[in-house]
Amino acid sequence: MNATLLDSNTFPAFEVYTARDLERIPQLERLPRQARFDMQVVSTVLPFRVNRYVVEHLIDWDAVPDDPIYQLTFPQRGMLADEHYETIATLLERGAEKAQLEEAVKRIRQALNPHPAGQIELNIPRDDSGEPIWGLQHKYPETVLFFPAQGQTCHSYCTFCFRWAQFVGDKTLRIATSQARQLTEYLRRHPEVTDVLFTGGDPMVMKTSHLAAYLEPLLEPEFAHIRSIRIGTKALTFWPFRFLDPDEGDALMRLFERVLAAGKHLAIMAHLNHWRELEPEATQRAIARLRGIGATLRGQAPLIRHINDDPDVWAKLWQKEVELGIIPYYMFVERDTGAKQHFAVPLVRCWTIYRDAASRVSGLARTVRGPSMSASPGKAEILGVSTVAGERVFVLRFLQARDPQWTYRPFFARYDENATWLDELEPAFGEREWFWSAAYRSMTERPAPAVEPVN
Ligand SMILES: *Cc1c(COP(=O)(O)O)cnc(C)c1O
Ligand code: SF4
Repeated sequence: MNATLLDSNTFPAFEVYTARDLERIPQLERLPRQARFDMQVVSTVLPFRVNRYVVEHLIDWDAVPDDPIYQLTFPQRGMLADEHYETIATLLERGAEKAQLEEAVKRIRQALNPHPAGQIELNIPRDDSGEPIWGLQHKYPETVLFFPAQGQTCHSYCTFCFRWAQFVGDKTLRIATSQARQLTEYLRRHPEVTDVLFTGGDPMVMKTSHLAAYLEPLLEPEFAHIRSIRIGTKALTFWPFRFLDPDEGDALMRLFERVLAAGKHLAIMAHLNHWRELEPEATQRAIARLRGIGATLRGQAPLIRHINDDPDVWAKLWQKEVELGIIPYYMFVERDTGAKQHFAVPLVRCWTIYRDAASRVSGLARTVRGPSMSASPGKAEILGVSTVAGERVFVLRFLQARDPQWTYRPFFARYDENATWLDELEPAFGEREWFWSAAYRSMTERPAPAVEPVN
C-alpha cells in the first residue's frame, strides 16, 4: 500500500467490483480458496461493492485479514449465522436454480431486520391526504432526512452498513424519491424544520446537476427557515476525486458556494471509521478544498468489532480529524440489523472505549457525542456505568428523542455486561418501565403505511 501513490494531477477512472467480479480481483488470489467461497456465499445475501481506489490505496494487503479497511469492505464468513450460511453454501455448491436461490436469499434478508428502529412504521411522514411520502424521514422536529433516488448507492459498501436493505435491489426494502417537489412541498408545510440532511446511500455518488435540482430550490426566500444543509457521505475517503476532478468536482464546489452565499450552514457529515482512511493525499486535498470554500466538516462513525473497537484507533482518528479541520461529532453503537452479530460490541465496552479514547486527546477532540444508539424512541447516549444505592446501573439519556421533552433527562438501566442495544436493557431500581414508555407506546399505536414504495 502506498498512500501517496497518486500523482496530484491525474485522476483515476472510477471502477467497481461487485459480487459477480470476486474472481477478477487480483488481490484476492492470495487468499485461501475457502475464504473466497465464503465471500461468494455472504455476498449472495448482503450487498458487496468495492472500488479499485479502495482496493489499491486504502487496504493494506500485507495485513489482510486483520486490516481494518479490508474488514470494512470485504464480506466475512461470520456475517451470516451458521444456518443461513449453510443454506446458501449448499445451494451454490449444488448449482441450484436461480428461482430457488432467490427465494432463500429473500427469506434470509427478511430475517435480518431490514428496517430497524421503526424507520418505516414511524419515520415516514404523510402528505395532507395521509399518503406516505417515500424519500423523506422526519423523526425529530428540526431535522428532515432526504433520500434522493440517485444517491441510494455508495462508492463502496461498508460490510456493517445499517442501510444495506437499500442496496439489494429489493423494491420493498427501499426508501427513496426522485421528486424534488416532495421535499419542497413538505418543507413549505413545516416551518419548524431548520435542517435538511441529504443521505442514502451516499448523495455524493450523484451528478452535481442532480444534486443541484434538489438543493437549489432550498435557497429561495420561501425556505429561509432551512438554516443548515447537511450531506452525509463517505466519499471523502472512498472516492475523494468526487471533490477534486475538474468537471464534476469543480461544479460541486460552485454549487456549494451558492448554498453558502444564500447564508446556509453547509455541513459535510463525513463517515470516518478509522484514521487510516485519512492518510491518502487525495483525501486531505478534498478536505482542504471543502474547507477553503467555507463548508464545515464533521466526523461520525459507528464503533464496530474487527474494525475500530480499540480506544487508540478512536483517539488517533479524532486527533487526525482535528488536525485536518473536521469536528468529531458522533460515535454510534452498531444497529440491530443485517450482520449485527458479527460486528456488535457490548454497550459497556463501547463506553470504556469512548472514555479511554477521550482521556488520550485534548479537549478539542472531545466534541464527540456518544456512544449513541439510534433506537426507535430516540438517540440514546450511554453516559456511563455507576453504582447508585448499591445497584450497578447504566446511566443514559436521549440526545434526540421522538418527544423533545425527553431530551437530556438521565435514566437508569440495570447493568448488563452483554447487552448490545437499548431493547436488551431493563429499567433499574425495580421500575416496571422507562419514564418514556407509556408515551412511546401511544405513539406506536397509529397504523403503519404498507411497505410498498410508490416510485
Ligand atoms: C441523528 C438523527 C438526526 C440528527 O440529529 P442531530 O442531533 O441534530 O445530529 C435527525 N434525524 C434522524 C432520524 C437521526 O437519526
Ligand atoms: S457509506 Fe454509509 S450508507 Fe454507504 S455502505 Fe457505508 S455505512 Fe452504508
